[in-house]
Amino acid sequence: MKKSKIVVIGVGTVGSTTAYTLLLRSRMDELVLIDANANKAVGDALDMNHGMPFLGHAKVWAGSYEDCKDADIVIITAGAAQKQGETRTDLLKRNVAIYESIITEVLKYNTDGILLIATNPVDIMSYFSWQKSGWPVNRVIGSGTLLDSARFRYLIGQHLKIDPRSVHAHIIGEHGDSELPVWSLANVAGTAFSLSDETKSEIFSNTRDAAYQIIEAKGATYYAIALALDRIVTAILRDESAVLNVATLLDNYHGVSDVFLGVPCIVDRQGVREVLDIRINEEEKALLHRSADHLKELIRKVR
Ligand code: NAD
Repeated sequence: MKKSKIVVIGVGTVGSTTAYTLLLRSRMDELVLIDANANKAVGDALDMNHGMPFLGHAKVWAGSYEDCKDADIVIITAGAAQKQGETRTDLLKRNVAIYESIITEVLKYNTDGILLIATNPVDIMSYFSWQKSGWPVNRVIGSGTLLDSARFRYLIGQHLKIDPRSVHAHIIGEHGDSELPVWSLANVAGTAFSLSDETKSEIFSNTRDAAYQIIEAKGATYYAIALALDRIVTAILRDESAVLNVATLLDNYHGVSDVFLGVPCIVDRQGVREVLDIRINEEEKALLHRSADHLKELIRKVR
């Protein structure tokens, strides 16, 4: 049987936490760590290998781009981290330059894997990766609003005193300031719930601004995004057809095209198999268009 192989490029706080999460959950046979700071990747690989007597079998090593050969999934978390007070969009130009070189290197050794993008601004980095790679759109996936939707479900669950796994609610659009809550479809076990406008507004602003809050408190966010990336990896490797709010290229989605945004997608071994056609109301549609326009404007700035 073919061994499953995952490459993580950029083992800073997000990349190393993601690698460790994948390892703890025995998601793959081989795990390659790559970073511009080679020592960091070597140190992380050593550290993780020393845990093998407690974990079982997986081969982990600090590698080079050649090791992208045969990788099922290449996760890219390389880039500059968002600094306190810095918007995600401020990071854009720095990260596009980093991606130019990374994608060029990956393509030399891998042409049929899946690119899973987490670097911010993630929707634009995913769009750029898709264009640069020339890969079919199903094989270039951004983490999108999966983390935001998890934060949203957690906060709703806290308010209703319900396990967040039983709360179904979507954040769609940009992973960032212009994202929107789909209140019209939020439910617990298929049953709608009602919250005051004030509570809704508080839950949504705490969702949208969570990264700023965490960065102010400890400098970076990494545990929950690592779990979100693990969730996407699992849906792919296990061919789950799971519905996850990842970023994909939209083609007349409620009238929005030619931009990557987080929307509910069916994720399986091919990557994004299909975008789920959810019914949103007119107000939500207008907000989705606003989010798309905002991202298109940013894309124009870096072109
Ligand atoms: P970090 O600074 O800790 O790590 C970035 C790593 O990338 C560093 O180790 C650095 O050496 C490496 N790197 C830089 N240039 C490289 C290159 N050319 N090749 C290989 N490696 C390179 O940052 P972090 O906290 O791990 O965050 C990483 C990214 O993830 C940021 O863009 C951050 O905003 C983003 N992020 C996204 C989400 C999400 O929901 N998508 C959540 C949290 C963080």
